[in-house]
Amino acid sequence: MKVTEGDRNNHHPDLDELLKRSAALHSHLCPRQVLGVRMGLLGGRLLGLDVPRSDKRLLVIVETDGCAADGVAVASGCSVGRRTLRVVDFGKVAATFVDVKTRRAFRVVPRQGIRELARQYAPDARSRWHAQLESYQIIPDDELLSVQPVTLCVTLEEILSKPGYRVTCEMCGEEIINEREVIQDGHVLCKACAGERYYCLLDEEEFSPEAGNRRAASSPPEKPAR
Ligand SMILES: [Zn+2]
Ligand SMILES: [Zn+2]
Repeated sequence: MKVTEGDRNNHHPDLDELLKRSAALHSHLCPRQVLGVRMGLLGGRLLGLDVPRSDKRLLVIVETDGCAADGVAVASGCSVGRRTLRVVDFGKVAATFVDVKTRRAFRVVPRQGIRELARQYAPDARSRWHAQLESYQIIPDDELLSVQPVTLCVTLEEILSKPGYRVTCEMCGEEIINEREVIQDGHVLCKACAGERYYCLLDEEEFSPEAGNRRAASSPPEKPAR
């Protein structure tokens, strides 16, 4: 399959600009960012929503962090900071696009075999990587991406929660926003205190930056006991 000028012109009109923005965010352009941008553009089109968006109508849940997520973020206009982009880390290049108003949702996943397909679309590319980089920009949507209409298993209310809502963990005293607390035996706990901690404290004493610096200067911190 030879890429023609026609194929190149089949580009989404915004693709080049979005790839530029994604590359700026990511410090370089790579094939997975291109995939991410294509996924974001398709997600918007499936829902009939213009992208990139500056409002909160579109919620995107990406299934891995990394390159593709940057592409999806740039194309959709969604971001972690604006609470319109969530990472549910399944280690998969996939994303679900949710129209918060109609609650319609589509999950978009790159098709199996697109790495091989990339070679066919760019037979003269210098490397597999370059073939993917070029081809992912021009392979038509239906050959590049597969689409599943879905419905969320968690309600939008649970994902978005109430603005301004906050409570304090009864154990550590830290503030919890967005209804992420856990009630255990009638006590309000943060997820960490409820046992879902992803870190281990090195020291029982409360850490202060000055003490930390002193310790670092005198001796390296001990490994936590297991
Ligand atoms: Zn990358
Ligand atoms: Zn706590």
